[in-house]
Amino acid sequence: MEQGILVINAGSSSLKFAVFTDGDRPEPSLLFKGQMEGLGSDPSFQVRDATGRKIDERDEWPRGSPLSHAGALRYILGWLEESASDIKIEAAGHRVVHGGLDYDRAVRINEGVIADLEQLMPLAPLHQPHNLAAIRALAEVAPELPQVACFDTAFHRTQPRVAQLFALPRTLIESGVRRYGFHGLSYEYIARRLPDTVPEARKVVVAHLGSGASMCALLDGRSIESTMGFTAVDGLPMGTRTGGMDPGVVLYLLQDRGYDAKTIEKLLYKESGLLGVSGVSNDMRDLLESDDPRAEEAVELFIYHVGKHLGALASALEGFDALVFTAGIGENAAIVRERVCRRAEWLGVRLDEEANRRGGPRISTLNSPVSVWVIPTNEELMIALHVCDELRAA
Ligand code: ADP
Repeated sequence: MEQGILVINAGSSSLKFAVFTDGDRPEPSLLFKGQMEGLGSDPSFQVRDATGRKIDERDEWPRGSPLSHAGALRYILGWLEESASDIKIEAAGHRVVHGGLDYDRAVRINEGVIADLEQLMPLAPLHQPHNLAAIRALAEVAPELPQVACFDTAFHRTQPRVAQLFALPRTLIESGVRRYGFHGLSYEYIARRLPDTVPEARKVVVAHLGSGASMCALLDGRSIESTMGFTAVDGLPMGTRTGGMDPGVVLYLLQDRGYDAKTIEKLLYKESGLLGVSGVSNDMRDLLESDDPRAEEAVELFIYHVGKHLGALASALEGFDALVFTAGIGENAAIVRERVCRRAEWLGVRLDEEANRRGGPRISTLNSPVSVWVIPTNEELMIALHVCDELRAA
């Protein structure tokens, strides 16, 4: 029987999972990847093998029995027992959005950790409660299974204090109102790949461009600055999120336009970004294919902001050696990479158009002062690695 690690990324109505082997290889290898969607309403289950081939799905569930997180986890564990009976799940790792100031690395979950993470719920109200719901549900379904929490914020705890501060009164700063940064598991994975890919680069800017998008400045593989701050709505415009915006707009909407907090939350997280500006879609593929001028304006706004933040992160690093593109848009949208690189010529970026069309990994010319790369991210593998480390340390 082979040992397996279950990786869980729980949202409000979906639960994504992956299963890795925990062998003696240099890194765990993926066995399955799947998801349960429609929790609380119309569930559907899908699972793929390591090559991406769909190997099972289910859409029919008894009427009037909406699945909870616990129900979904019970189903997934049952499916594994039946369809992968040679794998014994020995531990689970959860993606947890917020680890606050104290958690600067992954941690084995116990009652004390759960209590700490509950305290952080107001800092990430759209994600943290669902991450915790899955942790509690798994403890109920499989009480003996060790669980590890892996945080999106932890990797950024190395940032210098000045990068973490808002210019707010000290009492607020000390109570935790500060810049945390997110997408840490993705940046940690890229940092892990850099010594093999770009061994000579000490100063690297990573652009994680997906439906959530942010950028991070790495010095010797450690985060020193990022575009996301107190919440994951800061920084770049995203699929449906505004990105950084004058907080005066929020005050104006509250005081003069009759918006309440819930309406503003929906506006900032769900109705803005590429979707809001284009009025067409939150999906970069749709916008690139559209001939609606509003779609082009949304794409241009996105690229403009990536370029602007690249300048800011280059300043934090006092120059940079390499730029890395990753996540859905960064890995797949050659035209977005091309337009970002054109805007960054003044910083020493020279694009190799042909290499960019092929998707890299290196997409800059050999004499480019700054080398540019496409490196696919793998947050699930990073979680599996943390779980392995925790099991070995125990
Ligand atoms: P998340 O994990 O945050 O949901 P992803 O990293 O999967 O997001 O990225 C999703 C984004 O990537 C979407 O905007 C999608 O349009 C974009 N994307 C995926 N493939 C392509 C492609 N071939 N060309 C352009 N954009 C793409």
